[in-house]
Amino acid sequence: MSDKMIKQILARDPEEKEFHQAVQEFVETVKPVLERHPEYHQLGVLERVLEPERVIMFRVPWMDDEGWVRVNRGYRVEMNSAIGPYKGGLRFHPSVNHSILKFLAFEQVFKNALTTLPMGGAQGGSDFEPKGKSDDEVMRFCQSFMTELSRHIGQDTDIPGSGLGVGAREIGFLFGMYKRQSNEFTGVLTGKGLQWGGSQMRAEATGYGVVYFAAEMLAARNDTLEGKTCLVSGAGNVAQHTAEKIIELGGKVLTLSDSSGYIYDSEGIDAKKLAFVKRLKNLKRGRIQEYVDKYSETTYIEADTSLDYNPLWNHRADCAFPCAVENEIGEKDAYNLINNGIKMVCEGADMPASPEAIKIFLDKKLLYAPGKAANAGGVAVSGLEMAQNRMLLNWSAAEVDERLRTIVKNIHQNCLAVAEEYGDPGNYLAGANIAGFVRVVDAMLDQGLV
Ligand code: NDP
Repeated sequence: MSDKMIKQILARDPEEKEFHQAVQEFVETVKPVLERHPEYHQLGVLERVLEPERVIMFRVPWMDDEGWVRVNRGYRVEMNSAIGPYKGGLRFHPSVNHSILKFLAFEQVFKNALTTLPMGGAQGGSDFEPKGKSDDEVMRFCQSFMTELSRHIGQDTDIPGSGLGVGAREIGFLFGMYKRQSNEFTGVLTGKGLQWGGSQMRAEATGYGVVYFAAEMLAARNDTLEGKTCLVSGAGNVAQHTAEKIIELGGKVLTLSDSSGYIYDSEGIDAKKLAFVKRLKNLKRGRIQEYVDKYSETTYIEADTSLDYNPLWNHRADCAFPCAVENEIGEKDAYNLINNGIKMVCEGADMPASPEAIKIFLDKKLLYAPGKAANAGGVAVSGLEMAQNRMLLNWSAAEVDERLRTIVKNIHQNCLAVAEEYGDPGNYLAGANIAGFVRVVDAMLDQGLV
């Protein structure tokens, strides 16, 4: 597969910059597989992997509290079902568009493959902004969104789950509408409440999994998180549980952020302070700035989009855990991290580092874990939620946590082994992309030209 051919494929959708970024990073690393299998060229393997199996786009009309009708756009990108029904999160954020969901769905295919659970890849969502909306408005939006989405999903077809802007509240409203429309109580969504089909540990899974992955990387070098200082971005689901597990393993969390700015606490955000953040973000739906009102010795730095770097990544620390949004670490941030002594970057968010930043991490031999490997614990526990729903069982938190740890440990080992096999030892990015790709492609080829 020549670079020219990739360019031709991507040229069909020139405006999809996030998707192009994800594909270019991916294709670069799986080249050794394509060279080993020249027959893949004629079989159109890459062309097929890069093209979604199905894309659904729909109008989502809803009424706000003042009685005005608003219209958002809903999507579901069903990327690949070679190894199982489509599975992947929903994102509600004003920036959502076809390109962002296609990149997320593409990443999801290989992330799900890494878990070794039978799940294909998809992502969906809307350009709806839940921030600043009342619970009633969010409910009306979710009900309208599900009225259309329900035609395309099902426990054997496509199982959406939580994601950026889609937490327990949204999943509840979505599930209620699906149940009403279908007259079925099935595991069609993951991230459900514990009393109605949810799994223990699902809320914690992505963040905990990220830290388990980081601990595995360190353990492979006879090191631990004990006493390590950590920069964490975001203050949502992934960031909160990443911080929680770092604290539990003896690390010190210095930062948290939201889209308005970040807080820096030189004393460390301990379990008590984190409990405050959880209440602030999950119940009060407040801003991270309010942390400083409560803990006055800390600093709040407002986000400044005129800068070509993010000051959050410019503090002295040992580890960085980007857990907010894509492309939150650019080239300058990568140099700042390195100059501040960072030895490990472990991605909680999807594609938080730009291609330039990743290149710097790899060139400087930093311990770098890409999101599709490091945050796969979240979808792995979604897979466990699906398994429990099928069996009408509820596993204990300890049981789910044990399975999560095992899955993360296996992903880590698999990434290392595959990177070594393909001549790039210690490169988790190459290991993750190749391992996921080989599993998906093998399944696709077994199933013929479909
Ligand atoms: P949440 O909605 O719970 O939290 C997202 C956080 O990121 C919020 O604090 C939000 O702040 C902040 N944020 C959003 N946009 C920006 C921005 N432009 N700059 C700085 N901060 C920003 O989402 P999750 O924690 O669930 O998801 C975070 C990331 O993890 C995403 O990339 C998601 O795709 C990925 N992920 C999530 C999984 C999950 O299980 N939830 C699984 C795998 C990956 P604000 O409140 O101001 O918007």
